Amino acid sequence: MSRKTGFTTSILHADRESAVEHGALHKPLHLSVAYGYRDARELAAVFQGRAQGYVYGRQGNPTTAALEEKVNRMEDGIATVCFGTGMAAIGAILLALLREDDHVVSSAFLFGNTNSMFNTLAVHGDRVSFVDATSVDAVAAALTPRTRMVFVETIANPRTQIADLARIGELCAARGIVYVVDNTMTSPYLFRPKTVKAALVVNALTKYIGGHGNALGGSVTDTGAFDWTRYPNVYDDYKGPKPELWGITQIRKKGLRDWGGTLAAEQAHHLAVGAETLALRLERQCANALALARFLEARSKVRAVYYPGLASHPQHRLAGELFAGYGALLSFELDPAIDCFDFLNRLRCVVLSSNLGDNRTLAIPVAHTIFHEMGAERRASMGIADSLIRISVGIEDCDDLIADFAQALG
Ligand SMILES: *Cc1c(COP(=O)(O)O)cnc(C)c1O
Repeated sequence: MSRKTGFTTSILHADRESAVEHGALHKPLHLSVAYGYRDARELAAVFQGRAQGYVYGRQGNPTTAALEEKVNRMEDGIATVCFGTGMAAIGAILLALLREDDHVVSSAFLFGNTNSMFNTLAVHGDRVSFVDATSVDAVAAALTPRTRMVFVETIANPRTQIADLARIGELCAARGIVYVVDNTMTSPYLFRPKTVKAALVVNALTKYIGGHGNALGGSVTDTGAFDWTRYPNVYDDYKGPKPELWGITQIRKKGLRDWGGTLAAEQAHHLAVGAETLALRLERQCANALALARFLEARSKVRAVYYPGLASHPQHRLAGELFAGYGALLSFELDPAIDCFDFLNRLRCVVLSSNLGDNRTLAIPVAHTIFHEMGAERRASMGIADSLIRISVGIEDCDDLIADFAQALG
């Protein structure tokens, strides 16, 4: 973000700071796969990274580059690479930065597909330790001389545990370990992982940054906090004159160019338009979520509510210190006498759907859907009860939301 302007102003006017074609207020869609050159020497210079330019659509296009600049400002990073999905962004980091026999420490409270991805990594010869990342001691105890990376989420989905973000950042900085923070649940509007010494920040742009549930996308931002000269896995080819760019260059080459999880121009456009209202939407979503959490907590038919904005949440104070809001995701357990499917079927305005971060409020029975594949044992270790319902709170009028839950509870 530019030093002069605030969060939203900076996103709104980012495109116009470089010359936009015909003065268009939105960065135009660049749909060309290839880029032609009149001068063969210039073509060679672009290929060799000596000149700025585009060569082939898999490696980026000007529309996506404009979004990369916006995300980079939001995260106050030194460079950002966008991907076709959030999972492509996470996969790119792992593929680009890890080698056989490396060790990763990950939060046990993880997005389900990230958990699955780490299991795949283990099959391919890396070791992954899952720990309770709400405690820095658990992370410290899991470190080995081969630990290259620590991976955490800010607010975990669905139980809303909050990682001990600042202390883990200190630990990783002291040990020269790449600290990756998945900022999807908070988004850069509520939290900047750079402030806790994260090396790399992941955002699933699909969620709050896009916000409208109409485009998939992901990003990796290098905050500039990590000293890549200390990292043993950088290939000589990517050791350019600026060591701060070694890591993100390797992610762009190995993780985007070679693996091909490219964000298309049209999707980038949708995400960029969505990003303009991130602050407005999240203010409303956080306020709705707090009101709904308080409403549910006071109901006798609700056994437990998990939301960082409630005083009953174990990391309520920490969340207040770290984040500019408590987020828009909550989960709760019904009284076991109530069938969770019947309850969900009674909801009228709330949509039964697996996405999150949408403008619409979405509900899902977690154990039976998104966390089904991981099995009962792992679910139990993550504190996921069979009756747990996750709510991604949208921007509806608050009274309508509360009324819907009130009638569904009966
Ligand atoms: C959704 C999500 C992802 C993956 O993003 P996709 O765009 O769906 O691939 C990663 N991390 C978190 C925390 C998410 O919620």
